[in-house]
Amino acid sequence: MINKGMRQLLLWMLGFMLLAGIYNSIKVSQSEKDIPYSEFKSKLKSKEIKKVVVSPDLIKGEMIAEGKKVNFKTIPMSDSNLVKDMEESGVENFAATADKSWITSILLNIGWILIFILIWWFIFFRQAQMGGKQAMNFGKSRARQQDLKKNKITFKDVAGCDESKEELKDIVDYLKNPKKYKTLGGTLPKGVLLYGPPGTGKTLLAKAVAGEAGVEFFTSSGSEFVEMFVGVGASRVRDLFERAKRNAPAIVFIDELDAVGRHRFAGIGGGHDEREQTLNQLLVELDGFDSKEGIILIAATNRPDVLDPALLRPGRFDRRINVPIPDIKGRQEILKVHSRKVIMDENVDLSIVAQRTPGFVGADLANIVNEAAIIAAKKDKQKVEFSDLEEAIEKMIAGPQRRTRVISENERKIVAYHESGHAIVAKMIKGCDPVHKVTIIPRGPALGYTMQLPKEDRYLTSKTEILSRLSVLLAGRAAEEVTFGELTTGAHDDLSKATAYAQKMVTEFGMSEKIGPLSLKKDESEVFLGRDIVRQPGYSDETSRNIDEEVKRIVNDAYFKAKNILIENKTVLDKLASVLMEKETVDGAEIDDMISQLNAV
Ligand code: ADP
Ligand code: MG
Ligand code: ZN
Repeated sequence: MINKGMRQLLLWMLGFMLLAGIYNSIKVSQSEKDIPYSEFKSKLKSKEIKKVVVSPDLIKGEMIAEGKKVNFKTIPMSDSNLVKDMEESGVENFAATADKSWITSILLNIGWILIFILIWWFIFFRQAQMGGKQAMNFGKSRARQQDLKKNKITFKDVAGCDESKEELKDIVDYLKNPKKYKTLGGTLPKGVLLYGPPGTGKTLLAKAVAGEAGVEFFTSSGSEFVEMFVGVGASRVRDLFERAKRNAPAIVFIDELDAVGRHRFAGIGGGHDEREQTLNQLLVELDGFDSKEGIILIAATNRPDVLDPALLRPGRFDRRINVPIPDIKGRQEILKVHSRKVIMDENVDLSIVAQRTPGFVGADLANIVNEAAIIAAKKDKQKVEFSDLEEAIEKMIAGPQRRTRVISENERKIVAYHESGHAIVAKMIKGCDPVHKVTIIPRGPALGYTMQLPKEDRYLTSKTEILSRLSVLLAGRAAEEVTFGELTTGAHDDLSKATAYAQKMVTEFGMSEKIGPLSLKKDESEVFLGRDIVRQPGYSDETSRNIDEEVKRIVNDAYFKAKNILIENKTVLDKLASVLMEKETVDGAEIDDMISQLNAV
């Protein structure tokens, strides 16, 4: 900038002039000898004054002192004889000057004021120019606008999560033909929340949606909104949406939403002002835009459980899509996607690689293919062979940054039997929700799970149903006992759930004959440590003992029932467990087939 250099020069000049002025005034005052009026008068008498200039409040002039000409000044006194004395003394040159002092002082002061204003102006202007650039951009969103034409990601690049893709397809359709939806007048979800464990392809899916729809894609991460200064995050959110609106149709993608979207007031130490403001702004933006404008907000998180409930309200992130850990088939497909990027030997059987990698997510599998290519290259191979993939898997499992839980063959067998137990008892016992699927793919803390889906919404549950549920809950442990004659810690969650259920039956639902139709529930609505300790349950020791006995009896009965079912159906149990170990996921219909086949024999 040219102006900047000029200003700098000016500033320096000003400074220099100032210094010079100060120096001058000091010099002048030094060269003028200040003398008292009496001395001036006596010098007049001795004819040592050569020149005098009189102004109302100062007398200046030249005098002789020690044989030299010296400038002097003195403060005048009211002296009517001054002119006469000067004439007598024979001063060569005397004159009076008008009283300009007030003008000069004002001028001088104005000068000073001007100088200060100028300095102030320069400093602030320059600051605004330099620092301001940052200050003004501070609140700007750091979102990157992705150029999707170059590196277009489509649904083909994402594998092993077909259900998630299916759900995203209508979003794509909408972004492609917003008119179609506008004329019909329906409202589409504004916000889509992708949730699932890390590395399962949430970010990838969001990009694929943009790629498929061919719209602008603004990506930013939740952590970018949480800055040190309160208000910055909020203004970034605002800016992000403004940019998106200018470029509509567009997708706004916020990765790691939990960084901003965490439950407000959660955690010790109370709220976090900045995050709260940012979250509020996000809510405002979510409410403020209409999906008819052609903007869809997609967010990803691996902690949907910590999100603020306000985010999940209808009209906000009302479409929630699970991106699960892939099963064996999914893993094979993901491996296929990534092997396209390397030169793979034709003999490599990816299904075996998929079999060896239970619990691995897309990111792990991408890493394995990449690692295998590096290993092959190191060995100067022309193609990636199976042995390279094997080595990569081992490296991944044994390596320091092992992210996934790797389950030994023996453990998988136990888990397979455990889950088969749940599933078979759920099938055999009446009054149970149908089994949707069983899987031994670890998810969160669980090593596997059996998913039951109710046929319809129900608000009342009968005693038989609860007892059946208890049996199903305890069937995992029963299956372990029936098969291995040994127990593991894997059932502890089932047990605590079953116990809690039985306790509720007795104390809340009045389903125990021994206790009768009483509600002996403890008030748990507000559990404060202190209060809970102080407060005693409102019943006697004997009732308390009876409750314990009833709970124990109910749980034991349910366990016994489950165990008997499994002993009777041991062949089905063995079969289902072995199929599970092979395929990892089995759905309800397949279990039905299995049961009817084995029972027909
Ligand atoms: P997330 O956002 O769920 O943590 P990412 O989308 O960032 O996971 O995935 C990281 C990388 O892992 C992707 O760039 C891709 O190479 C690979 N990946 C993950 N999931 C899949 C998948 N389902 N299909 C293909 N590649 C995947
Ligand atoms: Mg991600
Ligand atoms: Zn279980």
